[in-house]
Amino acid sequence: MILAKNGFMPSGLVKQLKTGEITRFAPSPSGYLHLGHVFSARFAVELAESSGGKARLRIDDIDTTRCRKRYFGAIFEDLDFMGIGFDGEPRYQSQHLNASREALDALKAQGFIYPCYLSRRELAGLLSAPHLPENTDELIDARQKTRREEGGDAPAWRLRMEAVRAQFPHLNATDLLHGDIAIDLTNIGDEVIARRDIGTSYHLSTVLDDADMGISLVSRGADLLPSVPLQRILQELLGLPAPRYVHHQLLTTHDGARLAKRENALSLRQMRENGMRRADIYATMVKCR
Ligand code: GLU
Repeated sequence: MILAKNGFMPSGLVKQLKTGEITRFAPSPSGYLHLGHVFSARFAVELAESSGGKARLRIDDIDTTRCRKRYFGAIFEDLDFMGIGFDGEPRYQSQHLNASREALDALKAQGFIYPCYLSRRELAGLLSAPHLPENTDELIDARQKTRREEGGDAPAWRLRMEAVRAQFPHLNATDLLHGDIAIDLTNIGDEVIARRDIGTSYHLSTVLDDADMGISLVSRGADLLPSVPLQRILQELLGLPAPRYVHHQLLTTHDGARLAKRENALSLRQMRENGMRRADIYATMVKCR
């Protein structure tokens, strides 16, 4: 891959940019940032700079089961240490949950979602894996459903794919590195778009926030390519603009292993504690590539 002069973006991308792209870097405060995040953040910033646009920082903090206080501050400190700055104030996803509630009301009114009272464990027992989540309404006993409704249990909300397919026979997405992506709607099950515990989901909050922030180009790692179909569906259902995408390759170590916090990647925090300076860390990344 030939990289543009700043070094994080393939040079071929520049000519595909529109003037004034708005990009974003959206880490979750559920772990310390690692080298892969630095790559992603620089990538978003360089796309914006090369197009005369803006790069925004969003803290994806809706998943209260995984976010930890100590990681919030660490995100800012680590980005600062690496000399990566964003335009405007950071946006906190958790401060925009009203938008999710309103979107759910609109989707309910149009019959595109339905409540699901079955727990993940119950579903696992009912469905033979691997299986697409199917209409869970058909899986729950009517009396049990009424009992749970009346008992005030918060349901999860699932997309009614049958209704979605009837509305949109074809959907696609544009990715600057992966080309035109045709979305196979037959391959998508009744996914949860609002979890019972947090009332929203990664997909729902992401499309709402991206639209509200005016993101024209969603740049992120290729590990998130599988989330494009559901996010495009939600954009269409909610009448949101379709952003263009660029899913960049993932940074790997010299032996090809992926870097991710769950796989015990060396965090920036750890590297800094080990006495590495900014230049040393960037040098490590060149070796990674
Ligand atoms: N918050 C997500 C993550 O850290 C990224 C979301 C996105 O870029 O759409 O994996």
